Amino acid sequence: MTNSYSISRVASILYPLCILLVAGCSSNPVNQADYALTLPSARIETREAPSPEELAEKTKVVILGTGTPIPDAFRAGSSIAVIHKGQSYLFDVGSGAIRQATIARYKYDIPSLYPTQICCVFLSHLHSDHIMDLSELAHTLWWRRSNGLQAWGPIGVEPIANTLDELISIDANFRINGVQPVTNPDGFRVDAATITPGILLREDDLTIEAFLVDHGDIDPAFGFKITTNDLSLVISGDTAYSEVIAEKARGVDLLFHEVISRQGLEQNSPSFQRYHNSVHTTSDELVRLARIAQPKKLVLYHGLFYGTAESSVLNEIEALYDGEVILANDLDIFTTDSR
Ligand SMILES: [Zn+2]
Ligand SMILES: [Zn+2]
Repeated sequence: MTNSYSISRVASILYPLCILLVAGCSSNPVNQADYALTLPSARIETREAPSPEELAEKTKVVILGTGTPIPDAFRAGSSIAVIHKGQSYLFDVGSGAIRQATIARYKYDIPSLYPTQICCVFLSHLHSDHIMDLSELAHTLWWRRSNGLQAWGPIGVEPIANTLDELISIDANFRINGVQPVTNPDGFRVDAATITPGILLREDDLTIEAFLVDHGDIDPAFGFKITTNDLSLVISGDTAYSEVIAEKARGVDLLFHEVISRQGLEQNSPSFQRYHNSVHTTSDELVRLARIAQPKKLVLYHGLFYGTAESSVLNEIEALYDGEVILANDLDIFTTDSR
C-alpha cells in the first residue's frame, strides 16, 4: 500500500485547511511523511480527454469511503474508486464520498477524480448508505460537465435517475434559461442502466463484471470484479457469506470485503443480531471465505463495529487467518506496485 491515511492525518490536513479558509488563502501545502500535499481551493477544472501521462499510468484504487449508515466523523459512506487510463469508475457513492473524491484528486494528483470528470458509477444495491451522494456526483457543477454521468445499478436505478432530474429541475431551469453560460444543458442528467449479472463494461484492457451476492431480503444486490492489464480486484458490496465471492475472488490482487465484528454484533439487540446475521458477513465467516479465495490482500471496509474498538475486527480475523489483512481508512490508495 502506498499510503495509509490515519485519523490523525485527516485531522492534520483539515485543521490547517480551516485556518486557511478563514485567512482567505487559496492553497494549502501540507508536508506529510510520504507526500508533499497541496490542496487548492475552489479550482475550476475542465478537461476534454485524459492526458498522455494519465493514459500511461498503472491502475489505482482509492477508497473514498469506508463507512456504514452510522454517522462517523472519520469515515464517509461506502465508495471505492478504480482509476484506469484517465477514467474514474466509482463503486457505490455513499454520503461524503464526493468530498473525499475532491481531496483525493489533489492528494494523489488524479484529474479524473474531480467530481465533474467522474464518468461512471456502479451501485451494488440501493440501500441509502451506498447511494446518498449520487445527487452530489451528478449535480456538482453540472453546468460545466461536458458529459453526463453514467450509472449502473439494480432495478430501481432508473426511477432514481428520473427523481434526480426532478430534484435539479428548478436549478437547471434557472441556469439554462438565465444569463449563465452552460457548457452542456444535459450535463445534469444521469444515464442509468439496470444491471443484469455478467460483463457490464469492457473497454480495451478493462473489464467490469457484476455478480449476485446474498444481502438477505435486499434483492438483487451485486458484487463487482474489475480486471485490468495490471490489477484484479473484487468488491463485495453488502453481503452475507457468499461462496460466489469466494470463487470470483480466487487469487485476485485485492479483495475489498465488508465485515461485521463478532464483538460488535453482540452489542446489538436480538432482533438486530438476527438482521445482521442474515445480511452481513461476520469476521469468522470472512476468514472462511478468505481461506478459499486466497487474495493477495484482504481489505476490510464497510466495517460494522458498534462501539467496539475498530482494531477488534482485525484481531478477530488475524487470529484465524494467515494472509495479509488491512483495515482500510478513507483515502487509502492501492496500486499495482503495492500488490
Ligand atoms: Zn451498507
Ligand atoms: Zn446494504
